[in-house]
Amino acid sequence: MSTLQHAGLRLRVSEKFGSTVQGEGSSTGMPACFIRLALCNLICSPCDTPYTWDHKRFDLRAETHYGGIEELLVWALAQPEDLVVITGGEPLIQMAGLTELVKGLRAAGRMVEIETNGTIAPSEPLVAAGPSFNVSPKLSRFGAAMPETRRLRPDVLRAFVATGRARFKFVVSEPAELAEIAALEAAYGLTDISVMPEGTDPEAILAGMRTLEGPVREQGYRLGTRLHVLLWGDERGR
Ligand code: SF4
Repeated sequence: MSTLQHAGLRLRVSEKFGSTVQGEGSSTGMPACFIRLALCNLICSPCDTPYTWDHKRFDLRAETHYGGIEELLVWALAQPEDLVVITGGEPLIQMAGLTELVKGLRAAGRMVEIETNGTIAPSEPLVAAGPSFNVSPKLSRFGAAMPETRRLRPDVLRAFVATGRARFKFVVSEPAELAEIAALEAAYGLTDISVMPEGTDPEAILAGMRTLEGPVREQGYRLGTRLHVLLWGDERGR
């Protein structure tokens, strides 16, 4: 990987950390390191990472920094974990730099998961680089601050399904929201669906899982969790 290849490409980064596990979705529990990119195109009220995008509540100049692609690759490849999770914010806002980062990680043999809100279609070069996509569309309650046309983009959902490497995960707070997921599944052919409770403390996650377990099982979806919250609460960098 030559330095010239990435000349000038930088990513706006919120934080990066290793020695942890993937806390959500299909690969929950796998050892992983995380690169959390800054900026988001949505404004979800229950967002648990507003420090990546909400300039009204946070000083983004202090909360974020610019990292060169080479610098991020060197850091990630020095971590012992085989899985690199690129999350946000919304990582696909920074498509060009993201694509170069994923190419470098894949060339070095790393597994890469990109966590996205499913409103920006992945470019062909990004898909070709070989990451998996953990797509988390926002349901009406979670995304109540926005019109449906902003939080749900049919063309984009279809584009993710077409990659063959999309896993869909939903945050819900009550079983009634499962009907919305079923409607999206029927409309867009969503695959590999997991449902996890909302919450930033272990008690809320466990209570939510107990409430959701039966209805999620009956719907045929996977019951998800937020393993990092069960282990470490809302501690940042875990
Ligand atoms: S899409 Fe994710 S990062 Fe963006 S505002 Fe919503 S919950 Fe927060």
